[in-house]
Amino acid sequence: MQFSEEKFFRARITSRRNIADDLWVVHVDPGAEFRFAPGQYATLGVEAQDKLVERAYSIVSAPHEKELEIFIELVPQGELTPLLYRLDVGAQLSMRKVPKGRFTLDVKSGRKNHLLLCTVTGVAPFVSYIRSFEKEWREGKFDGGHRLFVINAASRSWEFGYREEFERAAASIPWLKYIATISRPWEDADWKGEVGRVEDLLRKYADAWELDGTNTTAYLCGHPQMIENSKGILQRRRFAKDVIREEVYWIPAKEAKT
Ligand SMILES: Cc1cc2nc3c(=O)[nH]c(=O)nc-3n(C[C@H](O)[C@H](O)[C@H](O)COP(=O)(O)OP(=O)(O)OC[C@H]3O[C@@H](n4cnc5c(N)ncnc54)[C@H](O)[C@@H]3O)c2cc1C
Repeated sequence: MQFSEEKFFRARITSRRNIADDLWVVHVDPGAEFRFAPGQYATLGVEAQDKLVERAYSIVSAPHEKELEIFIELVPQGELTPLLYRLDVGAQLSMRKVPKGRFTLDVKSGRKNHLLLCTVTGVAPFVSYIRSFEKEWREGKFDGGHRLFVINAASRSWEFGYREEFERAAASIPWLKYIATISRPWEDADWKGEVGRVEDLLRKYADAWELDGTNTTAYLCGHPQMIENSKGILQRRRFAKDVIREEVYWIPAKEAKT
């Protein structure tokens, strides 16, 4: 590859876990130290026809982990993901040396509740928050004073990626609550959990967990429509704009005019 050593790492895929036909998780060795805060993203790239195609990917792993973990969805008509999809263990990709993003946990405002809402790969930054807090908590450096409430949505249950990890963690961590929900139960007959989109469950769980705009910061990550709809619901529950944080993964293409 022809990219500059000054700006990019030559990162290498060290493992790959397929979650569904169009979803997979990779571990990436950047080849040098890469410092980031939970909630930030890495910029990954693949060279194609003499051009470097790059996109943003939220980091699943926590800063204390040796390798970077990324959860990717294939966009069949997309430019980069079909190239990434072909890469297996040992393959090289470019990674910008500087992490980006401000979708980090608000631990300074005094709000102790954090409502984390996501679709499919949008769970990535939340896994990073929780892994980091869990490490600090087990080491006695975090007193559990911040409480995290996750609503994780997917179309079908096999698209979650991190449900088992969250359920295991929530079973032993007093400061974590986790709800998984699917929006296509008719395609997933064995599912026994919640059904509906994030927007359908938001009021119910915000009430049950006693979260409102006075005591909670909300974080929305992933699908643009979920973010738009949930933001409206939160604003009607008196969440001011400055206590709603969002990470929109893509801008929907304009509908073709007919
Ligand atoms: C801050 C940030 C963090 C991100 N983190 C992740 C992550 O952790 N995992 C991840 O998989 N993606 C993530 N994304 C999205 C990622 O950057 C790419 O946009 C995505 O992988 C598609 O790239 P592409 O080149 O294949 O498609 P593009 O060529 O960029 O897009 C082709 C078309 O598909 C639409 N599109 C893009 N993504 C989707 C999608 N998922 N579903 C439906 N339509 C889509 C675009 O709007 C466009 O119209 C993140 C984006 C941002 C801004």
